[in-house]
Amino acid sequence: MPINLHRPVPDGFVVKQVRVGSIASGWYAQLILESGVSVPDVMPNGNSIGIDVGLEKFLAVSDGQLVERPRFFNSLQRELRWLQRKLKNKTKGSANYRKAQHKIRRLHERIYDTRKNFHYLTAHSLCDGVGMVFAEDLNLKATSRGMLAKHCLDAAWGSFLDILSWVCWKRGVYFAKVNPNGTSQTCPQCGTHTGKKKLSERVHVCHECGYTTDRDVAAAMVVEQRGLAAVGHTVKLPVEVRQPCRRVSRQRGLRTRRVSSSGDASLGTTREAGRTRE
Ligand SMILES: [Zn+2]
Repeated sequence: MPINLHRPVPDGFVVKQVRVGSIASGWYAQLILESGVSVPDVMPNGNSIGIDVGLEKFLAVSDGQLVERPRFFNSLQRELRWLQRKLKNKTKGSANYRKAQHKIRRLHERIYDTRKNFHYLTAHSLCDGVGMVFAEDLNLKATSRGMLAKHCLDAAWGSFLDILSWVCWKRGVYFAKVNPNGTSQTCPQCGTHTGKKKLSERVHVCHECGYTTDRDVAAAMVVEQRGLAAVGHTVKLPVEVRQPCRRVSRQRGLRTRRVSSSGDASLGTTREAGRTRE
């Protein structure tokens, strides 16, 4: 059978399995290769970040970056609804019905591809200049929250974390998941339990030490601290302690740090957030 071979099987690899499947845009064959070389696990090293996936933003990073939910999904979803309405007016089983159905399948595929591409770009930008990435273990989290959360924490975030762990491995960045319980209820500065925040409360304000920052960034900082504790590194405290050392060690020239202890509202726009949105 003639195939479009995107790249040859690399030297030293043996094809162990071939999976053939059909999706809207055609037939695909996936080769699973094996080689005798064992790749060592990535060890904790270098700078660290923690990430928190949220309902409002796509994710927040412990260094103050906020990655927005990409807008192109809305227009794609609109297009999908439009096509689905059109399908209703066609006679079932007719040629036009099948054509309309095919268009919908193609669009589903495009949405899937677009999302995956966005996930890869985001994962790569997170890996820039760091040696450790910590994220919440979402399986635990989904069961600990209500129905709304379960609905929102759908496959998209799970697959993002899968992609992130793969990208980290590929780039030699240590990746680990931490216990997600109460990350948004703890002060990253003094560790005080601050109590549950409502979804509408966007800002973390500590009653004990007065530390103020974006709510999701605070949660990401707690995630980072838990991760660092798990790998046996000293826990970094926000802003005052870590800002100077970051500037020297990180080679991300244009990076601007927007989190200030005064709780600046303009947290949102860092260079990375802008890039991943494109
Ligand atoms: Zn505090």
